[in-house]
Amino acid sequence: MKLKTGTPYSLLKQSAVTGFGKPLTRTSTHAQVLIVGTGISGALIAHSLLHAGFHVCMVDKREPVRGSTPASTGLLQYELDGSAAELSEKFGFPQWNRIVHTMKSANAALGKLAAPFPGCGFEVRDSLYVASKKSDVSSLKKEFAFRTEAHLPVTWLSTDNLRNQCGVHGSAAILSRQAAKIDACALAQGLLKAGSRHGLEIYSPVNVATYQESSSGVEVQTSSGHRLSCDHLILADGYEGYRHLTRNTFSLYSTFVTLVRPLSETPQEMPLIWETSRPYCYIRSTSSGDLLVGGEDQPLIGQKITRGVLKDVEARLLKKLHNLTSIRGRPVSTWSGAFIASKDSLPFIGRIPGAKNVFAALAYGANGITFSEIGANIILQMLNKVHHPLESSFALDRNF
Ligand SMILES: Cc1cc2nc3c(=O)[nH]c(=O)nc-3n(C[C@H](O)[C@H](O)[C@H](O)COP(=O)(O)OP(=O)(O)OC[C@H]3O[C@@H](n4cnc5c(N)ncnc54)[C@H](O)[C@@H]3O)c2cc1C
Repeated sequence: MKLKTGTPYSLLKQSAVTGFGKPLTRTSTHAQVLIVGTGISGALIAHSLLHAGFHVCMVDKREPVRGSTPASTGLLQYELDGSAAELSEKFGFPQWNRIVHTMKSANAALGKLAAPFPGCGFEVRDSLYVASKKSDVSSLKKEFAFRTEAHLPVTWLSTDNLRNQCGVHGSAAILSRQAAKIDACALAQGLLKAGSRHGLEIYSPVNVATYQESSSGVEVQTSSGHRLSCDHLILADGYEGYRHLTRNTFSLYSTFVTLVRPLSETPQEMPLIWETSRPYCYIRSTSSGDLLVGGEDQPLIGQKITRGVLKDVEARLLKKLHNLTSIRGRPVSTWSGAFIASKDSLPFIGRIPGAKNVFAALAYGANGITFSEIGANIILQMLNKVHHPLESSFALDRNF
C-alpha cells in the first residue's frame, strides 16, 4: 500500500534520521514481545513495555519511522470527529466523558515524553472548532453543551469574537484550551533511539507475512523466510493493518496537506483550527512560522495521486486557508497520505478477536497520535492482565 506521495514536512525538516534498524541475520529469534511497525504507535508501545521490564523486539518492512507517521500534521486534540451527541448515544455520556478526558491526559503525557527530544516541537495551543456556516451553529452549540457538562476548558466564541480575538472567519466557534502540536516522527525516532540504548532490538527491512498462535506463544514467518517467535505479538502496522478488521467498520481515504509560507507574519500563538464542514480543513502553525493546511479527504478507490492531483488540491487548500483566516501564502510542499477512520471515529486497540496473545494497535482516525499514546497504556495493561476503562470502546469487535 502506498502510504504517502510527495515530501512531508517532517522529512523536509530532516528530522527523519535513519540507520537504527538492523537486518535480521539469525534464521530464528525469540522475544518476549514482538511489535510489528515502528511508527508512533509501535514506538510508544515499545517505550511503555520497556519501562515495565519487558524484552521487546520490533520489525518493520520499511526503514524505521517511514510509514504514515512522517506524513502526519501532529495536531493533538481531545476533540473527536464524531459528535459528542452520537458517541454519548452509543457508549453513554460517562464513557464519552472518560474517552475525552483520557485523550486530554494522553496529550499532556506526550508533552512529557517529547521533552528530552529536540525537534519534537511540542507546544500547548488552543484549538478552535469553527462553524463553517450558519446552519452548523445549532449542532455546534449542542457540542459545546456536552463539553461544558464534561468540565472541559472550553469557551463559546460568536462570529465577532472569533474574528476580533483570533482573526478567523466563521459563524461561531468552540475554543478548547490545552490542545497541542507535535512532530510525531521526531518523537517516534527519539523514543526508538533511546529504547535501543535500553535493550530494544529493531530489525528492518523485515516484512511479516503470517503468524500462528500455539500453546507456547506466537510464531511469525517473514517474507524472507526467517522465523520469529514471541510470547506476545503486537500488530502496530498502521493503515496496512486494516486486514485485521471486519470490512464495514472503517473507511479508507486519501488525505492532503500543504506546507504554506505566509506572505505576512502570522500570530505568535496561533491556535489549531478546524471546522464543521465535511471533509474539513485544518490548520496549524509550525515552529518556524509556516502553516500546515490539511484536508480535502477523498475516498481511496484505486486513484493515482499524480503531481496534477496534488497541484489541484494545493490550490483548494490555499483558498480554504484564505477563506478561514485571510492569510495568503506560498506553497512550499504538498503531500498526500492514505488515511483510515473507523465508523465511530475511535481507534481499534486490543486483542485480535479469537486470539490469546496477539494484539492490534490501529490508531485510526484524526486523533491517531493521541490514540497511539492511549493504545500504549491499553496494551501494557492487557499484557499485565489489568482492565483498562476504554478497552470495550476501542475493541476490534465492538458493535457498529
Ligand atoms: C496526512 C496525515 C495527517 C495526519 N494528521 C494527524 C494529526 O494532525 N493528528 C493526529 O493525531 N493524527 C494525525 N494523523 C494520523 C497519525 O499520523 C497516524 O495515526 C499515525 O502516524 C499512525 O502511526 P502508526 O505507527 O500507527 O502507523 P505507521 O507510521 O504507518 O507505522 C506502521 C508501520 O508498520 C509497518 N508495517 C506494516 N505492515 C507490515 C508488515 N507486514 N511487516 C512489517 N512491517 C509492517 C509499516 O512499514 C510502518 O512503518 C495524520 C495522518 C495523515 C496520513
